[in-house]
Amino acid sequence: MIVVMKPGASDDQVQHVIDLVRDFGLKDHPIYGTDRTVIACIGDKRAVDKGAIETAPMVERIVPILAPYKMASTEVKQTRTAIEVGPDKFPIGGNSVGLIAGPCSVENREQFLRVADAVKATGAIGIRGGAYKPRTSPYSFQGLQEEGLEILAEAGRNTGLAIVTEVVSVETVDVVAAHADVLQIGARNMQHYPLLEAVGKAGKPILLKRGLSAQLDEFLLAAEYIINAGNPDVILCERGIRTYEKYVRNTLPLASVPELNERSHLPVVVDPSHGTGHAHLVPAMCRAAIAAGADALIIECHADPEHALSDGAQCLTPDALAGLTGSLKRIAQAIGRDM
Ligand code: PEP
Ligand code: MN
Repeated sequence: MIVVMKPGASDDQVQHVIDLVRDFGLKDHPIYGTDRTVIACIGDKRAVDKGAIETAPMVERIVPILAPYKMASTEVKQTRTAIEVGPDKFPIGGNSVGLIAGPCSVENREQFLRVADAVKATGAIGIRGGAYKPRTSPYSFQGLQEEGLEILAEAGRNTGLAIVTEVVSVETVDVVAAHADVLQIGARNMQHYPLLEAVGKAGKPILLKRGLSAQLDEFLLAAEYIINAGNPDVILCERGIRTYEKYVRNTLPLASVPELNERSHLPVVVDPSHGTGHAHLVPAMCRAAIAAGADALIIECHADPEHALSDGAQCLTPDALAGLTGSLKRIAQAIGRDM
């Protein structure tokens, strides 16, 4: 349920309600808006005396939260959430559309530092690259792991770009959080609940990818795990789902973008690289994603896609990426945003 305070409620009056909520064994999540404060209360409400809360000074009303995901839902928070990433604190979820690009994997220092400079030159706000790679085959390249994290951090220091990289296990959350600005939870781990709880305590924003066969409720409940563990900075990433269609690696359902925007205040990012699997489809899907309301794009980019150690077929070259940004900016402008 949500306790809605009247405009002008004092800090003491809000604290009094929080204390009452805690007395009933519920967890409180106050949200301080521009004209009023609301307190979302999570937990078992059967033993709660709603009347006692309702009659507290400056309480306007109590409303139930109907969505199964609570803190992620627009029922609790109507204003959009903007999450600041990287040293320049670029807000993902603000009026500007962000661009994050980089190779699927960090392959070696030279390769990564070079592509980082090229990505920076396109006006991107972040660079991606996997140091820990969840691969379908155990015989495929598994990533440079800690060495890869060092390279990512060096690229971050050189360029000022936000570093986005995947964390695949509970044991490596701390080391990844020490080197990266945004921790990615991969599609295969969207329902790895101990990992979601661990990144809920990591103190860095999380890019949560939609599972290969996850419905939107399940996706938002995965976000709820992270928020409930203490981290409100969750960025949702639509990366395509598994269907019977074969001309693409995954089917990119862009209607999920406006649907997620309706159900949740969290920012939504689209990954058209994994969402299609083919570089020639990526530019059109980037344009469509922005038109659909995405807050940022995350795109795979490699200087030599033919020799990439992973996902080469879906990588744009730095030149192709640079050539795309003009039309992306125009589409952002056409819907009242900038890029
Ligand atoms: C990736 O970003 O390289 C990746 C493995 O993505 P996903 O988890 O969406 O497959
Ligand atoms: Mn990849």
